[in-house]
Amino acid sequence: MTAAPETTTSGIAEADWATAVEAIGQADSILLACHLNPDGDALGSMLAAGLGLAQLGRPVQASFPSPFELSGVLADLPGRELLVPADQADAAPDLLVTFDAGSADRLGDLRDRLDTAGRALVLDHHASNTRFGTLNLVDAGAAATGVLVDQLLTRLGARLTPEIAECLYVAVSTDTGSFKYQATTPSVHELAARLLATGIDHAGLSRRLYDTRPFGAVRLLGEVLARATRDTTGAGLVASYATLDDLARHGQRPESLESVIDVLRTAEEAEVACVAKQLGPDEWAVSLRSKGGVDVSRVAVALGGGGHRYAAGFTGHGSADDVLAAVRTELARA
Ligand code: AMP
Ligand code: MN
Ligand code: MN
Repeated sequence: MTAAPETTTSGIAEADWATAVEAIGQADSILLACHLNPDGDALGSMLAAGLGLAQLGRPVQASFPSPFELSGVLADLPGRELLVPADQADAAPDLLVTFDAGSADRLGDLRDRLDTAGRALVLDHHASNTRFGTLNLVDAGAAATGVLVDQLLTRLGARLTPEIAECLYVAVSTDTGSFKYQATTPSVHELAARLLATGIDHAGLSRRLYDTRPFGAVRLLGEVLARATRDTTGAGLVASYATLDDLARHGQRPESLESVIDVLRTAEEAEVACVAKQLGPDEWAVSLRSKGGVDVSRVAVALGGGGHRYAAGFTGHGSADDVLAAVRTELARA
């Protein structure tokens, strides 16, 4: 497939942008919310929007579902002063704006704000988005929700400060696998160029995002990789799992497991990679990655989750074996 180079990406109608701009201009209180266990795109796009709205004098709060915990680069992002825990977030804002959440349940304990807010604006790029807002700005072609935030802030007339740029850089870099994935269009690079032009320390951010981990996490990574298995039929699934006991033995937090999937997916034989990360006795956060031949979002949606063609996830139940068996069953159908 060939696509014309795009200078503006938007699968979103100009009339919808105009409605969003108007809603933001009129609201007496605005609550921003992103998905559970925020990643770089969820938090970065939300804080970039928060900083932009604050710059324009709009009354804004930002929050994310409990637990109210962040680490690494995400804990240090500009705009974090706008963050309040879910239980302290405006109970009935005029306007709720959600970021990078593909469905209402991704809002965890902030989900009730969908009922109490005057209006809900959904900003997202998941193909599986369930359109749970009163206004849905969803562009499945966008590389990151951060791309949409840049377009929104431009339309609002906000100035691109280094602080906003840092948040957007983290958002876009994270969701494009550091500008490697398919969705990295010419316009994504143009956006990155504008972000870098504000003087942000992109090399430092990238080092902290991708090339820094505690020694215990290096050992944990090795152990989880060493127990990987490979199917010799079907999509050649390469899979592994990590338990809460693994984390405890290496003195690590769950974030230390996020890079496991990126190493597993490098296995040449595998079309699909899967990592199940234990959350509780019978509960697992499951990550799926595809090289493109299989749409893993279909597998994830079938198992109660969501995501994109190349990267998706769901919450699995039972033992690690049960979870991987469920993945194999859905893969055979996909
Ligand atoms: P992860 O493997 O956690 O990096 O997640 C990859 C992508 O899958 C995310 O960007 C989300 O779009 C999606 N995803 C992960 N977990 C879930 C879930 N439990 N429910 C819905 N979507 C999910
Ligand atoms: Mn996300
Ligand atoms: Mn995203």
